[in-house]
Amino acid sequence: MNMDTIVSLCKRRGFIFQSSEIYGGAGSCWDYGPLGVELKNNIKRVWWRDTVHLRPDMVGLDASILMHPTVWKASGHVDHFSDPMVDCRACRHRFRADKLDETPWVHFCPTKTDARFEVPAGERCRHCGARRTLCPECGKGELTPPRQFNLMFKTYTGPVEEDAALTYLRPETAQGIFVNFDNVLQSMRLKLPFGIAQIGKSFRNEITPGNFIFRTREFEQMEIEFFVNPNETIDGRPADEVWHERWIEERLAWYHRYGIRPENLRVREHEKEELAHYAKRTADIEYRFPIGWSELEGIANRTDYDLKQHARFSGKSLTYFDEERKTHVVPYVIEPSAGADRSLLAFLVDAYREEEVRGEKRVVLRLHPDLAPTKIAVLPLLKKRGEIVATAHEIRSLLARWWVTVYDDTAAIGRLYRRQDEVGTPYCVTVDVQTVGDVDKGEAGDQRVTIRDRDSMQQIRVPIAELPTVLRQLLEGGTWQQVGGRYGIGG
Ligand code: ATP
Repeated sequence: MNMDTIVSLCKRRGFIFQSSEIYGGAGSCWDYGPLGVELKNNIKRVWWRDTVHLRPDMVGLDASILMHPTVWKASGHVDHFSDPMVDCRACRHRFRADKLDETPWVHFCPTKTDARFEVPAGERCRHCGARRTLCPECGKGELTPPRQFNLMFKTYTGPVEEDAALTYLRPETAQGIFVNFDNVLQSMRLKLPFGIAQIGKSFRNEITPGNFIFRTREFEQMEIEFFVNPNETIDGRPADEVWHERWIEERLAWYHRYGIRPENLRVREHEKEELAHYAKRTADIEYRFPIGWSELEGIANRTDYDLKQHARFSGKSLTYFDEERKTHVVPYVIEPSAGADRSLLAFLVDAYREEEVRGEKRVVLRLHPDLAPTKIAVLPLLKKRGEIVATAHEIRSLLARWWVTVYDDTAAIGRLYRRQDEVGTPYCVTVDVQTVGDVDKGEAGDQRVTIRDRDSMQQIRVPIAELPTVLRQLLEGGTWQQVGGRYGIGG
């Protein structure tokens, strides 16, 4: 599977469009269409439900994007939040020096004539054995020495663009949590360990954005700062280390729970030299994207670095009173930091299947029902029959009270099923002649409709009156075999 397949599906079926497309597009900016916004909201909703609502030790926050500029001085972003940048002296292409080995490179091999070809990322030329030294894009130009480039977007508050008004668009949501630590602690009377979770936009002036929504300059993060008492131990081990491991497990389990296949996920430990200046340990959850294994979520032990820095710069105490030990402590923090857009890409890629059904290709998104943008499609078998259409509309209105439900009569039933498969709708409800009967022939309808299961393509017939109950069972964890079995599954 390659990225182009997903990009084209996303455009064709209303998930994701290029931003400002009618003006030729805004580089690496993307807009979520009608189905994309549902999918992204669903991802954020289940994340919020699982991390905030279902946990007794977590609360939420929604901090502003623009903050006091000293926040970014204290956090280290003004001085350290930069990537090394190199330029090609010939084609002027710009690269992140630390990611050069992660892109395929163009090579003019001396052992071949007509030898411009692409060598896979990080590999040697299989003809001459050379490693990449020149520009990976044009294969000819020398690269400049790396220069540090700060990734924060600058802006000015107020009408005058002067240094005193300089501030930044936040490059992560985390700092909004740290600066509110005391507000949340005092107002909610929390006891360690506890977490503060936040979902929101972040901005980074990335040197090399790209790969669809994988790396963009504006994106959404889902971040948790989980505060732990550094003086505590769990089974003889420092509590922060134990909680770090728990969070790695918990976050991996979360991706599995919503359908990502385990073989496409792995945990990668950061090497010592790769660790951020504040981190004691960092592990990335990586997903096997079409571009190769890449970070989906980072889980860092940020120690007490951030709270101490903000205490120092603000002159305010950011401590917790440990009743048991009668001391003030600065909590350690474990930070599971996920990208909503990157998760969406992973969920889409993982759900995408091409199957052969009776000699024809079927594209299906096997999205978890909690994530699927549309839960139910109500389809009339015959558009010409007024009672069928009216009943289908009534059913749609009824079901739309609980689930995102659409009505579609713009094609024959086979086409309608395929369309819903392609956007991951778990169930289709079909109204046919049998449902409504035929007054002219004096035949009464049986008031039953067909439910079709996306994954197995099997069908059951269910009384309309029982539809909400059956669909609730199906959409809230019941299996097709269990629930459908009661109604006699058919092909
Ligand atoms: P990378 O090494 O890929 O630049 P990072 O280590 O800088 O990522 P973090 O600061 O750990 O990323 O951010 C946490 C999460 O936010 C990432 O795992 C990713 O899901 C998301 N994220 C970060 N930068 C971007 C971006 N430019 N576009 C989309 N998502 C991003």
